[in-house]
Amino acid sequence: MSVENLTLAEIETLAKQTLLAGGCDENNAAAIADTVTRAERDGSTSHGLFRLPGYVKSMRSGKVDGKATPVIDNKMAAIVAVDGQGGYAPYTLQCALPVLAKAAQNTGIAVMRLHNSYHFAALWPEVEYLAEQNLVGLACTCFKPSVAPAGTSTAFFGTNPLAFAWPRPDKTPVVFDMATSRLAKGDVMLAAREGHDLPDGTGLGPDGQPSNDPHEVLKGVLLPFGGYKGSAISMMVELLSSALTGDQFSYEAEAQDNNDGGPARGGELIIAMSPDLIVGDGWRAHSEGFIAELSSLEGVRLPGERRHKNRQDTGTRAINSALLETIRGLSG
Ligand code: NDP
Repeated sequence: MSVENLTLAEIETLAKQTLLAGGCDENNAAAIADTVTRAERDGSTSHGLFRLPGYVKSMRSGKVDGKATPVIDNKMAAIVAVDGQGGYAPYTLQCALPVLAKAAQNTGIAVMRLHNSYHFAALWPEVEYLAEQNLVGLACTCFKPSVAPAGTSTAFFGTNPLAFAWPRPDKTPVVFDMATSRLAKGDVMLAAREGHDLPDGTGLGPDGQPSNDPHEVLKGVLLPFGGYKGSAISMMVELLSSALTGDQFSYEAEAQDNNDGGPARGGELIIAMSPDLIVGDGWRAHSEGFIAELSSLEGVRLPGERRHKNRQDTGTRAINSALLETIRGLSG
């Protein structure tokens, strides 16, 4: 695979220029470029520059408003209702997360219902932000169907990610952020592009039979992680991020989406909890003791550690040359 080495500043500039040329205003271009750059910085490459062509396609098709400004309603103390006004999630989240954090710091627990928005990124930025405010964060969203619920070979769930962050004093938080499919679809697409086989249990081909070929699985269906247990968690994500936000389930998103290569409209549910208010003094020492015990076990590493380690490397990132050519063609 041919690659080009770009600094993080070059990645951010390229992303921002491409988004401005594609139809974003300054606020949205800056917020998305920041999200994309942080993904490349942390090694979350399936949600970095790889997503830019999709962002631009969805503005050019007229589906997403790259100039949207969210409307935020926090009239009820523990509920932050956010209308994304048909825009992308990063700028909306940049505006709304501080409101959610404040609400949770006042009430102990607060929930954000984000609807009328297009999420095309990883979820760890939102839960990490909350943990940095000494809050526990939980977030989920759903997408168009590509995952077969346990027992069938018909796609019905999205890859439906779930993310969680726990705050730590003077340390990066413990964070997991995972698709509820065996592999995220972006990783299957990357495997197809780079010619890798998929691990067992990733998906079924169009004939309904298990396959390790990413091209076959992209024509067929993905499977949930952990059989019926992952399937139940994916169902929960559908209910929380759609029924509880008032936005579309994955199957409804598919019926409405124009398949332009970008994200479908959907909801995101984010819960913020304040351990200071819920449990009071001593929570930090208690949870730090648990984390120390867990980390001391042979072979264990904390979720989030890989990304946070990558983050310390401030050098260049190797970016696929063909992807860069596509992106430069877009901003052309
Ligand atoms: P991974 O399977 O790579 O990782 C899932 C989580 O497990 C991460 O927090 C990771 O931490 C942790 N982890 C991985 N290996 C270990 C290990 N050996 N020990 C302990 N923890 C470990 O992520 P996915 O492929 O499932 O998801 C990728 C991304 O896709 C997510 O960010 C998700 O939000 C995004 N996504 C977004 C969608 C959308 O609609 N917006 C749809 C679906 C997915 P670490 O990062 O440190 O490796």
